Amino acid sequence: MSRAVAAVVALVSLVSLAGACSAPRSSTPPGANGANGANGANGASGEGPSGTLPDGAAVTVAIANGAITGLAPAAASERWLWPPVIDSHVHVAYWDVAARLPAAGIAAVVDLAAPERALGEAAPGGLAVVQAGPMLTRPGGYPLDGWGADGYGLGCADEGAVRAAVARLAAAGARVVKLALDGHGLAAELVPVAVRAAHARGMKVAVHALSDASAALGAAAGADLLAHTPVGPLAPATVRAWSGRAVISTLAAFGGGDEAVANLRALRDAGAVVLYGTDMGNLRDDRPSPAEVKLLGRAGLDDAAIAAAMTTVPAAYWDLPLGALAPGRDASFLVLDGDPRKDARALLAPREVWLHGARIR
Ligand SMILES: [Zn+2]
Repeated sequence: MSRAVAAVVALVSLVSLAGACSAPRSSTPPGANGANGANGANGASGEGPSGTLPDGAAVTVAIANGAITGLAPAAASERWLWPPVIDSHVHVAYWDVAARLPAAGIAAVVDLAAPERALGEAAPGGLAVVQAGPMLTRPGGYPLDGWGADGYGLGCADEGAVRAAVARLAAAGARVVKLALDGHGLAAELVPVAVRAAHARGMKVAVHALSDASAALGAAAGADLLAHTPVGPLAPATVRAWSGRAVISTLAAFGGGDEAVANLRALRDAGAVVLYGTDMGNLRDDRPSPAEVKLLGRAGLDDAAIAAAMTTVPAAYWDLPLGALAPGRDASFLVLDGDPRKDARALLAPREVWLHGARIR
């Protein structure tokens, strides 16, 4: 199994745990290369690139100490300055590519299942990681019965176990709780218990729910987001139940079938927020996914909506300081050859990548 590589995003205590069900063993001080760290770039000052902001203003970026300090008017430019990509469904503890992602234009990821020992570990390369830790399931259930046997699930047999697990994950830095619902997942009566426990700690709740029954169960329990677009046909009532909540696309990871594509279209039409996510680790990828971008288009998102689902929308959803270029903000952004609202594929191959004030591509 790959070495754990994740880091919590900001201002959470960094505590590593010895393993599932054990007490905290040691504290790890925040590293210089933590999620909001400088990647060696703090102190880098001076003139950054020029280009056109999303609002149409052509500017030259001034940078100091890893932050944007000014946006001076500049000559019109065909290059666009854009927030970095956020992948809302990865497994970088399982598939150890975190160090490669920033140079590909991905500044933040959401790791939706990793062993407890990965919580609080600093990610390499300045990547920001929103962590879930292990997904809650039944004892021996999914994914402990397969790919996730090495701690990627946490078996919970009763309400007390669920509450203790959520409390422990929160204390270790998890910001989202993932519940396995399909088939051999968490018992249905424990799902609302887990949601209440997570919400009481300010954590979001993602559900692995590929079927209509599971998606309906998650919605009824108050879950916040679908970790995948369900692949089974969804009843209209289930689609309506997810209105105003969120769904992570992961269409390519499940083959991009017509049923899933139709589900994502229906969920979005009903008012669900769409977040770009690839299930990286399931898919052995290490960069933004051309296949996912294409499938989002098939699901009815135009290029502007796809670009938003990859950048600004997840920045707001996960409360990451990456959704805009403005004085005082982290100097993490892309320089693109075109406006991604006209062709979202511009986000797949950034001309330049700036992370925490340093050009890394
Ligand atoms: Zn996954």
